Amino acid sequence: MLEGIKNEFPVLNQIVNDEPLVYLDNAATTQKPLSVLSAIKDYYENDNANVHRGVHTLAERATEKYEAAREKVRAFINAKSTKEVLFTRGTTTSINWVAQFAGQILKADDEIVISIMEHHSNIVPWQEVAKKTGAILKFVYLKEGELDMEDLRQKVTAQTKFVSIAHVSNVLGTINPIEEISKIAHEQGAYLVVDGAQSTPHMAIDLQKMDVDFFAFSGHKMMGPTGIGVLYGKEELLNQFEPIEFGGEMIDFVYESHSTWTELPWKFEAGTPNIAGAIALGAAIDYIQELGIDQIHQHEDELIDYVMPKLQNIEGLTIYGPKDNKKRSGVIAFNIEGLHPHDVATALDMEGVAVRAGHHCAQPLLNYLDTPATARASFYIYNTKADCDKLVEALQKTKEFFKLD
Ligand code: PMP
Repeated sequence: MLEGIKNEFPVLNQIVNDEPLVYLDNAATTQKPLSVLSAIKDYYENDNANVHRGVHTLAERATEKYEAAREKVRAFINAKSTKEVLFTRGTTTSINWVAQFAGQILKADDEIVISIMEHHSNIVPWQEVAKKTGAILKFVYLKEGELDMEDLRQKVTAQTKFVSIAHVSNVLGTINPIEEISKIAHEQGAYLVVDGAQSTPHMAIDLQKMDVDFFAFSGHKMMGPTGIGVLYGKEELLNQFEPIEFGGEMIDFVYESHSTWTELPWKFEAGTPNIAGAIALGAAIDYIQELGIDQIHQHEDELIDYVMPKLQNIEGLTIYGPKDNKKRSGVIAFNIEGLHPHDVATALDMEGVAVRAGHHCAQPLLNYLDTPATARASFYIYNTKADCDKLVEALQKTKEFFKLD
């Protein structure tokens, strides 16, 4: 159903190293369709003005479009209200904000529970807040590429104040059972933070159903631009916490001695926001909605079901993550015995195939998996079965080139 969609992504229509580009680095960032590119251009050509302050026509139009984008995000993730949707620079900023909220209430010996499959941006902010408050950071480990739920149940206790877990791992592709984790966290009175960077672009997100307290994601991983992301927080929680940044836009009154804050969501959005970025994220959401998020998910499932047996047939190739394809999204980390993943990625690039190699900002996970690095292919809506074939063929050529066959 999504075949032919590539034409809507100008960057994909190019030759790299004498081969047509096959872009398989979507977990790092995704390409942008024409509709998103023209939303950015249209905004700067027709509406550019600062938001919320002006009474002139352009300022009103820019404000309307910026706030309309917030409503699109709200509907997309099924938040109760736009008061719960804060625009940030991306997942990293969003999680840093939550960790700083945590810093406003954590005490020595309170506990924070995260997992070993987290991206650095869901580890380091918690390490820092633990250092400052004396809270204890605990890790949940894995069982066959999946979160060990028994371990999670044991680690989340009455001392736990925050549980912060990726919805989907950017290395293993594992889809974590957020509703179940939510029940476990809430039974112990802990808040649940979810890193949705790798799930929001690929599957339907219903935050009310999942009962998540905070949820973070990035625009650039879902066909929007870089520099825009979202932090969702339940309204009653966001009301309890102090802003992280201070300045214009977020105040109610400023006196010489002190200031008061405006209402949600603007209380957290100090300074001129990324207006074009938010509007373009709204356009990306429109695009996803037109295709249908369930269709996108199904398309990626089909690609995984198609490519996995072919990859498993390549001798010496190890695939990380869950055995059951239904428990993983379109991210495949792998290694070829006897080859450094950087060499694999370089050889694939010579064939026009773009994959990532390295630690994928998940050093504790790779350490746990006992490998310094992996190669990683990650899929999105514009990828095709022909792209999968090209990946497999290029891997075979790589093995031949390095005389591994
Ligand atoms: N969490 C996960 C699971 C990710 O994959 C990424 C991006 N690789 C991030 C967080 C950080 O996102 P950003 O760099 O857009 O802030």
